[in-house]
Amino acid sequence: MAGAEYRIGRSSRLEGVLYDLRGPVAARAAELERSGESILRLDIGNPAPFGFEAPAAIVEALRSALPHAHGYSESAGLPETREAIAAHYAHRRGFPALSIDDITVGNGVSELVGLTLQALLEPGDEVLIPSPDYPLWTASTVLSGGQPVHYPCVESEGWMPDLAAMESLIGPHTAAIVLINPNNPTGAVYGREVLEQIAELARRHGLLLLSDEIYDRVVYPGFEHLSTAQVAPDVPCVTFAGLSKTHRVAGYRAAWMTVTGFHADDQFLSGVRLLASMRMCASVPAQHAITAALTQDDSLDALVASDGRLTRQRDAALDALDAIPGIRTQAAGGGLYLFPRLDPELHRIDDDERLVLDLLDAERILLVHGRAFHLRTPDHVRIAFLPQTDVLADALRRFGSFLSGYSPP
Ligand code: PLP
Repeated sequence: MAGAEYRIGRSSRLEGVLYDLRGPVAARAAELERSGESILRLDIGNPAPFGFEAPAAIVEALRSALPHAHGYSESAGLPETREAIAAHYAHRRGFPALSIDDITVGNGVSELVGLTLQALLEPGDEVLIPSPDYPLWTASTVLSGGQPVHYPCVESEGWMPDLAAMESLIGPHTAAIVLINPNNPTGAVYGREVLEQIAELARRHGLLLLSDEIYDRVVYPGFEHLSTAQVAPDVPCVTFAGLSKTHRVAGYRAAWMTVTGFHADDQFLSGVRLLASMRMCASVPAQHAITAALTQDDSLDALVASDGRLTRQRDAALDALDAIPGIRTQAAGGGLYLFPRLDPELHRIDDDERLVLDLLDAERILLVHGRAFHLRTPDHVRIAFLPQTDVLADALRRFGSFLSGYSPP
């Protein structure tokens, strides 16, 4: 007897959900790798493959927790982990005092962003998101039934948000403003004045601030990171952070979010709690890793000192890019990336994804095209400066030679 016809489709809810960081170009790289080719991956901020070891104190805490970390925890996270997170923020001058009820631990900031937007948005609600952005924010907004509205950040002003443009985009359906600080992909670190002005917009229009601070401690000499909630303790704000970058353990999936400026009986918070309870809890071993990281590990400081490995790599990448004709790059104040601009007069790139694909095929170097970050123009690429300085210098010299002979098909 013939069976029923299968109707296994792809939900229309995924229409408009884009996440090109792991899209077609990354798929081509994976295909090359499977056929035995070696690819220099300057595409994602995953420190581990480049010899950044997991800090010993964190690994040890995880190892010794394993025999008794096999049960679920409270949905919001282990009380001791949330206490460690509260204590961590107590050192930031002006950050509102946190109780453990203000904190939710998650399987990466990625999970918490989805959970937050699902809890918050009504269909059609608008979320102001920077352009360029970290594309998770746009994708999660669409998936949650919201409408992303991109506000421009201005390259010639160190990639600071255009506040007048931001305000002009606020309308009756605007629900929240997303800030990514330090920024991915641009490396911008926002000063107090910018944060105060954004907070003032939020106050004036009754908007929630969503502050992605996953690179909060990855900050280079001469720059200082301020949490949005430090500057605006009175404004409703969700702050996101975790261990993926600051402690180089992206694979552990360990992160948290804090809410400040809220009333305890807020409806949004009850929605967050409901969604957190539906996925039971964050990985409990990873929660032990968070407690250890926040109480025992400051090893990042040496990496971002003036002679630290990450600082030297940032500088080597900047120097190598500066040597390429027609490329201009803002120095990153924080984060793990540079976002150079290719002069359109000289390079005439209409399709930046094609450029990145052609570079991959020709040189086995993988970058990300700027439009993957919701930038309108096809004239930027993102480079993660995680390899050692000599590898970076050589790769970017090869990128320069490739560009000088490149004529798009
Ligand atoms: N937010 C930003 C700005 C990021 O760059 C990343 C990862 O690259 C994430 C969030 C996701 O981090 P997690 O590993 O905690 O999911």
